[in-house]
This record gives sequence, C-alpha cells and structure tokens, in this order.
Amino acid sequence: MASPTEVDLAEALERDEIVPYFQPIVELHTGKLTGFEVLSRWIHPISGMIPPDRFILLAEQTGLIGLLTERLLRKAFAAASDIPGPLSLSVNISPVQFRDRELPLKIEQAANIGRFPLHRLILEVTESALVDNMQQAREISQGLKEIGVRLALDDFGTGYSSLGHLQALHFDELKVDASFVRSMDQTRESRKIAAAVVGLGHSLGLITVAEGIETAAQAEMLHWLGCEQGQGWLYGRPVPREKLAAVVSRGNFSPVTESPSGSTSETITASLEGRPAQQLAQLQAIYDGAPVGLCFLDTNMRYVSINKRLAEMNGAPVVDHLGRRVVDVHPDMFKIVEPFIQRALRGESLSGIEITSPKRGPDPRPRTLLLSYQPARDEADEVIGVSVGVVDITARKLVEVALKESEDHYRHSVELNPQIPWTMDADGMNTEISPRWKEVTGLTLEQSQGLGWLEALHPDDVTRVVDRMEVMLKTGESIDMEYRISKGDGEWRWMRTRGSPRRNDSGKIIRWYGSVEDIDDRKKTEQALIESEALLKAVFSAVPVGLIIAEPSGRIVMSNPQAESLLPPNVIVADTIDDYRKAGAHTTDGRPMEATEYPLARALISGEPVGPEELLLRRADGSDGWVSATAAPVRGPDGEIVGGVVAVLDIDGLRREKLAIQDRIAKLQKRIEQLGVLSNSTN
Ligand code: C2E
Ligand code: CA
Ligand code: CA
Repeated sequence: MASPTEVDLAEALERDEIVPYFQPIVELHTGKLTGFEVLSRWIHPISGMIPPDRFILLAEQTGLIGLLTERLLRKAFAAASDIPGPLSLSVNISPVQFRDRELPLKIEQAANIGRFPLHRLILEVTESALVDNMQQAREISQGLKEIGVRLALDDFGTGYSSLGHLQALHFDELKVDASFVRSMDQTRESRKIAAAVVGLGHSLGLITVAEGIETAAQAEMLHWLGCEQGQGWLYGRPVPREKLAAVVSRGNFSPVTESPSGSTSETITASLEGRPAQQLAQLQAIYDGAPVGLCFLDTNMRYVSINKRLAEMNGAPVVDHLGRRVVDVHPDMFKIVEPFIQRALRGESLSGIEITSPKRGPDPRPRTLLLSYQPARDEADEVIGVSVGVVDITARKLVEVALKESEDHYRHSVELNPQIPWTMDADGMNTEISPRWKEVTGLTLEQSQGLGWLEALHPDDVTRVVDRMEVMLKTGESIDMEYRISKGDGEWRWMRTRGSPRRNDSGKIIRWYGSVEDIDDRKKTEQALIESEALLKAVFSAVPVGLIIAEPSGRIVMSNPQAESLLPPNVIVADTIDDYRKAGAHTTDGRPMEATEYPLARALISGEPVGPEELLLRRADGSDGWVSATAAPVRGPDGEIVGGVVAVLDIDGLRREKLAIQDRIAKLQKRIEQLGVLSNSTN
C-alpha cells in the first residue's frame, strides 16, 4: 500500500487488523524480564505488516488514535493472561490523547474490562505531550496517578521540556532514547552524553530504561552508568501475542557480564560528528534547564561539562569552568569537596552530603548545598570521571534554623519564666514539659508523658479536665482551664493551663503548645475577695435601714433591698442629682422638694452630714409614706469627696401613730374643755 488513507485506517480498525506486538523489557543487571512494551502493528491482508510510523501519525491527525488505543489495549489486556504479575505492560499514549481529560477514566474502564491491575500498567508519553499545555498535562497526569498507573517519559533526551516541568508531573521512569544508546559505544565523548542523560534521570529520582539496546557492550555500559532496565533486539524483537507465552517462560535474558571482555570489538566505528548537532543542542538545553546543578569531572578533577544552574551557584560563567580544574576555579570550595571527589574517583558513590558553601558571588550569604557524587566508568570498568549533582537547600535550611532558634528560645525562656511550658501531640499526649513541673508535682518528666501528668491532678478535677480536652482536641479551640495539683503532701495548688494548636500548611493540627501557671496565690486572694464582698453584701442587705451609695455626681451606684422597697425604682437608677426629684418627696409643711434639697444631694454638695430629717415620699400611684433620712459625704484618704451615702428609715408607721396620738390628745382636750364648761355651768 502506497500511503494509507483515513478510510483505509478506519476500515483496518473495523476489521481488527491493528494488533499489539510485545517487546520484552529486562533488568540489565540480572537479565530478568520486568514487562513488555506494547507496540502496534497493522497486519494488512495484502500489504502484510505495516509498521506504526506509517499509520500512528495518520491516526493522530484523523482522531482515530483514541479508538486505535482502545482496541489495542483491549487486545493487550486479553493477552495478559499470558503475562503473570508482577510483569508490567507499557503502552504508548500519543500527545493528542494526553490532552483528553477523560483519559484516566478511559484507561481505568479498559483495564477493568480486561481485568488488568492498574498498578502494572505504565503509560509512555513523549515530551511533546507536555509542552503546549503544562497545566492540563499536570491535571491529566494527576488523574492517572490517582487511578494508580505509572508514567514513563518516552524518547527522553530528544525534546526541550524543562526538567522542572517533568518533576511536576511525577514520572516514574525515563526511557533513554535509542539514539543515545546507539552512539554510546562509539566514542568516550558520546558516552559522557549518555552518562549525563542517565545521571539526569537519577537526579530526578527516576528509574531509567534504555531503548534500542542491540549489543552486549551497550548493555554493559548502560549498566555501569547506573541504568536499571533496557529493551532492544539484544533481548528480543516485538512478538505477536501467540509467541508471548514462550518469551515469558524463557524468563531470563543475558545479564550484563561483570567482567567485560572483547565486547568493544563489536563497536561500530562512527564518530560523534555523526550525531545530529541539533540533538546535542537539545540535550544541552535539558542539561542547563535542570533544577539541580550538574557537572562532570574527569579523573584530573577538571570540569568536562557543567550546567548553567551549577555555574550560577558557583558564581562564575560556564566557560570559566570548562577544561579547568576545580582547585583553580573554586579553591575555597575545593577544600571542602575534594575528599568526596577522591572517594568517588576510587569508585564509591556518595549521596546526601550536606555542606555549607563559602560566600561567593553577588549574594554574600553562605549557602547550604546537598551534594551527590557518582563515579562514571568506561567499558573496562575503569572510573573515567565523576558525575556531580548539587541542590541548593539554603531556603529549606533557613527555615530549619529559624525553627531551631525559636525552639532554643522557647527552651531558654523555660528557666526564667514562672510559667511551665509544655507540648502535646495532635492526640493530646504530653510530649514535653519544663523541669519546673517536677518541682511542683514531684512527677518526673517521663512519668508526665502521655497522660501521666493527670496523676498530679486533684481527683475532683480530672474528669472535667479530660472532658474539656477531648472537646478541644476535636475542635482545635485554644485550651484554657484551671485545676488543682499536689505534690502528694495534701496541699493543693491552683494551676491554670493555656495553649493553642500549631497547624501544618494544610490546616491539620500537628502539635499543641502551651504553659501551666501557678495561680494559687491569685486564686486565694480572689477567693478571699469574693468572700469579703459576699459578707459585705450580706451585711448590707441585712441592715434594717435602706442604704443608698452615690458617686460625687449624684449617680447611684449601690442600693440594698430595703432602700429599693422604700423608694420608687426610677430614683434607684438616678444618674444625676437632678433625677432625685423623681422620688417625689415633700417637706413637712407639704411643699414638693427641690432636687438639691434632698438630704443626699445636700451632703454631696456641702460635704456636711445632713439629718435625720423627716420627709414625705409621694409615689406616682398617689400612695405616700413618711421616711427619716440621714445623709453623709464619703471622703477619700486625702479628704476629697468620693461619694455619699444616705440611710433611709421607714417612719411612716411611727409618724401615723404620732399623728393618731396627737389626734386623740386633741380630742381628749376638747372633751376636757367640754367637761370644764359643764362643771362650771353646774356650779
Ligand atoms: P517507541 O515508543 O520509541 O518504541 C520503540 C521502537 O523502537 C519500536 O519501534 C521498536 O520496535 C523499536 N526497537 C525496539 N528495539 C530496537 C532495537 O534494538 N533497535 C532498533 N533499531 N529499534 C528497536 P516501532 O514498533 O516501529 O514503533 C515506532 C514508534 O511508533 C514507537 O516508538 C512509538 O512512538 C510509536 N508507536 C508504536 N505503537 C504505538 C501505539 O500503539 N500508540 C502510539 N501512540 N504510538 C505507537
Ligand atoms: Ca514507547
Ligand atoms: Ca521511545
């Protein structure tokens, strides 16, 4: 067939002519089979087998790729009865499919129908799937991760994508493009490039899988470079489903030989110049864009290559490094790192080394760097250099230091403070408490751990405290409670504990911080105050006279029940002297009193005692009653008037009795007078 058309392809799909072939992927070191890559083949009734590079692009352009993948997956999963766990299946996904939000759902459905466990499925995507819409790619990869499939970055090293982006997508593996593998056993230079690609994968924490391994020499070299897995004609060409069982039962493929012999003789003689220059440029772009500093040092500790990132960290341009020795370019730094480079040159691989770099560049602050040194070996297993990875963790370190400092500060304040700081985990278990706790409770810090501190509490307080804590642990409200503790000598002291939760970025409580304070003295004074006030109030309300206390302004601040029963309510709440008028008092001669004539008002104004005086209070309802009032100013320590008090006595009964007696006397006198008149007249 010359060039298949959309119709041809649609018909091929209709007739099920597109079938999966399976290429084994093996662990380089052991030669053990790890899984298969699914590669599509078009079995045309007339033209025979058509390779994917003649119809995949067409499928992508016509939108048939979705259907193609679906059919292919279905067949692959059906064949998977011959692929036992934990062997994996790697499936190629086109960039256009990586823009389909439904992709995770479709994959999940296909796997469910085929009863293939998702964790054994690896989806291979190329960098071009990621470039135009990073946000969307991130969402889809997230969705795929959620259903449990693994992601591989295909054809690694041939694209331009930023490694920062790759990191964001959480790939599980990198497939080193066959072009690097093909060229690597040709010259040392090209091997360095392959080493850089493999090293890059490692610096991102990914499994690397080399593609297109055709010779044992390539496999060996890749293994020495640290590449874990590989696929290629050395291990097997893609096979149809019928031959799958045979490949699986074979199980093991030739592992890399530990002592390489004449394998290099197979090396195809071709020079690095044979490599497309463009691809080198692309590789350089990746190398420079890496979020980690990378360089390659030869056995003389010269920079063979360095990426922009590391050059920036070093505070000198890339060209200032190339071909020069570390000791000459960065003498101060060299002193620190030389031992590590030496060890790596002796074949040791080192990682997780944390150092503080000397001040350099425009930023005078010392940086904290995380370093790794990986020896790179040639085909004769000889170390030919060291691959160096550098991550600047200063920012993270600063946070750690700040945290440490605040903790130190916190610890320090413990000794000076009357408060007893504590920390508690998210479950309410005491994790730390200041040594002062031991002084006041007799409990050791170990004994106080967890819920041990409750031992020191008064039995009557335990339930209340525990209940309250349960609520606070649940709601995350701040803690503020009082309880009594004892050393066991029968003497209880009141304590107050206060604290609040610390949360992480996602709002989850990670710890509680707080302190206990001895409030016993305050609590006792408070108690005494409450008691004396209660006593005063009791006396105040028990006296058989009405008592009213006012401020100098005349505002009534206090009154007892007797006063309240005698006076109208609106006087009891008087704000000014003028309001006294509302009491409706009358003088003995029956005239309404002016506000300023009231005994309390006069005492406040003149500063002299007034009374006792009798006055008639006439209420709004017309009822009235006689009272006797005695007022006096209250003076402060330096003699100024701070208020006034009036004692009001109900004399209405007395008054009326007096009036009645007067009345009786008057009547009696009248009678006597009459009697006198009578006796006179009888004379
Ligand atoms: P790829 O994903 O990079 O697949 C690896 C290619 O290298 C395959 O070519 C494989 O047959 C070939 N290969 C494997 N070992 C060796 C070796 O030792 N030496 C050499 N020279 N080649 C080797 P194939 O099967 O022709 O597939 C070509 C490309 O077509 C694949 O490249 C992949 O990008 C695409 N492709 C294949 N099947 C599918 C599919 O189902 N969906 C999509 N979207 N793309 C597919
Ligand atoms: Ca692939
Ligand atoms: Ca590939």
